[in-house]
Amino acid sequence: MAVHVMDEANRCLQCKKPRCREGCPIHTDIPEMINKLKKAQVMDAAQMLFANNPLSIICSVVCNHENQCEGHCVQGIKGAPVHISAIENYISDSCFERIRIQMAPPNGKKVGVIGAGPAGITIAVILASRGYKVTIFEGHDKIGGVMRYGIPEFRLPKTVLDRYAKKLQELGILVRPNFNIGGSTTIHDLFNDGYKSVFVGTGAWRPRRLMIPGETFGNVAYAINYLNNPDVYHLGERVSVIGAGNAAMDAARTAIRHGARDVTVYCVTEKPAASPKEVEYAMLDGVQFEYLKTVTQIKDNSVISCPVHWEDGAMVKDESQSEEIPCDFVIISISQIPKDRLVTVEHELKLSDKGTLVTNEHGETTMPGVFASGDVVTGAKTVVEAVHLSKKIADDMDKYMQGLLD
Ligand code: SF4
Repeated sequence: MAVHVMDEANRCLQCKKPRCREGCPIHTDIPEMINKLKKAQVMDAAQMLFANNPLSIICSVVCNHENQCEGHCVQGIKGAPVHISAIENYISDSCFERIRIQMAPPNGKKVGVIGAGPAGITIAVILASRGYKVTIFEGHDKIGGVMRYGIPEFRLPKTVLDRYAKKLQELGILVRPNFNIGGSTTIHDLFNDGYKSVFVGTGAWRPRRLMIPGETFGNVAYAINYLNNPDVYHLGERVSVIGAGNAAMDAARTAIRHGARDVTVYCVTEKPAASPKEVEYAMLDGVQFEYLKTVTQIKDNSVISCPVHWEDGAMVKDESQSEEIPCDFVIISISQIPKDRLVTVEHELKLSDKGTLVTNEHGETTMPGVFASGDVVTGAKTVVEAVHLSKKIADDMDKYMQGLLD
């Protein structure tokens, strides 16, 4: 292990007002986690972490720690922050199989969860522990959603998600894979079969288009499609990545690992939207960055690129300075919106102008008894944000099914 977790734990000052906790979107009790580790109460620490965040192992790996817990750690003011993510990962990973979740007696009520991504798994775990009989409907053959099909293996090994699949089984949660609600089976069918409430956590899988000539060519992929299964793409040697968020970094770094020699990221701002660490690793991998530049046309073996500048918040292209850059393959990564068939065919589910599901403050959609959270509501966000929002929605679904929701 590169970081010795006890050395890091010993650097924690056990602050009375822990800034690390404030910086964590899900308010993990970091000083208490470290305190328990130092007292060799590792299982207790793991139980506490799982109860607060069922996806603790995953968040310890994929969160943007330098902007969250570690970015707020008081030790970081004059030196290096405590390596909180390594500590959390050690505890959660080493204890995961032994974690015992306190289960309420079965209450005889069925819940349907559509989508086995971060939001769906969180809802399923919480409601199963409260006595509900949960069935997850998942369009892919395995659970994980964007964590399995959108985050590359070198960042998040799929074995972690396989361990979660076993944990769901242990909790009595049924998973129905390769099955989409919104096709031959509708949400109404679930209610007719006695489900008391339904949760929609189908994510954001429809790539946003650039709307430039050449976008339909065979040498083009959207990042979300490319990351789903990079082995099936023939990239060639020169790859252009349009967009500079975390998914763009994942796509660029994956392309390098799949044989591309010359990978260039086009970023329309001076600073990429991706977290600084992801950008740093992309640079270490050999990815080149073109700042304040975009691509205006894709050709069979090249792209047309031009500089941009910003006026009153609007991007202006300087097309008189366009140049043609040789390129074998283009990956477009400028965000995603929900695309699941369910949200487009189930007309009682109202969509916002952005294509996300409309919900009230309890997470209830415009269809009575149907709740939603995660990317299908917020647009593409982080795993920890999906878990944080879903915890509250699980409480509200619980109240709804007990007839206690106002
Ligand atoms: Fe420990 Fe840093 Fe959190 Fe203070 S801010 S409690 S030093 S981890």
